[in-house]
Amino acid sequence: MKFEDIRAAEARLLVTTYERNPICFVRGEGVLLFDEKGAAYLDMLSGIGVNALGHGHPAIQEALDKQSRKLLHVSNLFFHEGQAELALRLTEMTGLDRAFFCNSGTEAWEAALKLARAYATLRRSEGHRLGTKILALEHGFHGRTMGSVSTTHKQKYREPFEPLVPGVEFVRFNDIADLEEKFSNEVCAICLETVQGEGGIYPVSKEFFAAARKLTSETGALLIADEIQCGLGRTGEWCAYRHYGILPDVTTLAKPLGGGIPIGAMLCNEEAARAFTPGMHGTTFGGGPLACAVAIAVIDTMRRDNLLQHIQETGKYFVQQLQSLAQRHTCIVDVRGMGLMLGMELSDAELAKQATTQMMERRILINRTNETVLRFLPPYIIEKKHIEQTIHTLDEILTNLTTVAASPAAAHGARG
Ligand SMILES: *Cc1c(COP(=O)(O)O)cnc(C)c1O
Repeated sequence: MKFEDIRAAEARLLVTTYERNPICFVRGEGVLLFDEKGAAYLDMLSGIGVNALGHGHPAIQEALDKQSRKLLHVSNLFFHEGQAELALRLTEMTGLDRAFFCNSGTEAWEAALKLARAYATLRRSEGHRLGTKILALEHGFHGRTMGSVSTTHKQKYREPFEPLVPGVEFVRFNDIADLEEKFSNEVCAICLETVQGEGGIYPVSKEFFAAARKLTSETGALLIADEIQCGLGRTGEWCAYRHYGILPDVTTLAKPLGGGIPIGAMLCNEEAARAFTPGMHGTTFGGGPLACAVAIAVIDTMRRDNLLQHIQETGKYFVQQLQSLAQRHTCIVDVRGMGLMLGMELSDAELAKQATTQMMERRILINRTNETVLRFLPPYIIEKKHIEQTIHTLDEILTNLTTVAASPAAAHGARG
């Protein structure tokens, strides 16, 4: 099918959940993606933080090839070699004890929420006082299924689907006093993204994380860190919470885990894991042989190539470059993030929209989140020259946009 035919057919045949950009990709290689005319695009978004090793990585090709010849699926009714091997790696990386495998981010988050409710039930049966309430953070994002969307803050994502899962209350971001006020024995879990992604690249402060840890430890409620976007090396550590030296009880991983093959994981400590017994939760596809083999290849490649250090170094360089750009452009109001999870906030949403579109026209893929924030989630294999190319192009685009428009009628930061 030609691109125009694909567009027309999709417009007729698909449920309209996405407004796609007018580019059709046919192939990828390293940090580049190629459209149907053969034009190359620099991928600074990696499929929203998924293609950690870029495109067409030989280690992933080999794992796919080998495993597809051996075994694709057996269900969770039987053993295969992949889950234990992957769990061994993930427990070490997260500092937690046990893993549950699934197919996506939202499924990992659902598992975490169900674990929290089941754990509270177990604790009550053991004579403790623990309620069913869940605290989540304002501007947080945890996925689109019912439980996940119930803990996601944005009205637009929630309202049409009400009634949602009951018992969720939102706490102001990084506001310890608000957290303390809303926390009680009624709470079974505090939920947070260690670094908010969709919310605009905002790290939870170490103080807030520590306060959440202290409160939950006092009552036996669970501290659940969503690391679906910020985990697995994205911030330069295996988990973003490793920067703080504080462990949660539960964490969720997904996006980069399979390097492009769908797989998610919920990890928890020994104590919380007691809440699930056989039959209580499950999945047909989760943790299948193919997905596990690829995830193992992704992790082993990251270790072999010392990618954590590479992420730290290139991330530091990227931030410096963005900051020097901010000194030349008054429309840049903030530069935030950790490692290769970076955001650059512009003074108004329309400007951010145009900058993103023009970057795409200049064949560099980024996206815009929380209205005003340009988001950079490049593959972990990015090199300095790609960062330089991005900064140079962004510099030109912002110069053009601000001298042409020169309208100071800026909306203010979407976080009021
Ligand atoms: C993307 C994301 C999810 C949802 O993952 P899906 O695979 O799209 O279901 C959940 N939490 C965070 C922090 C995310 O970035």
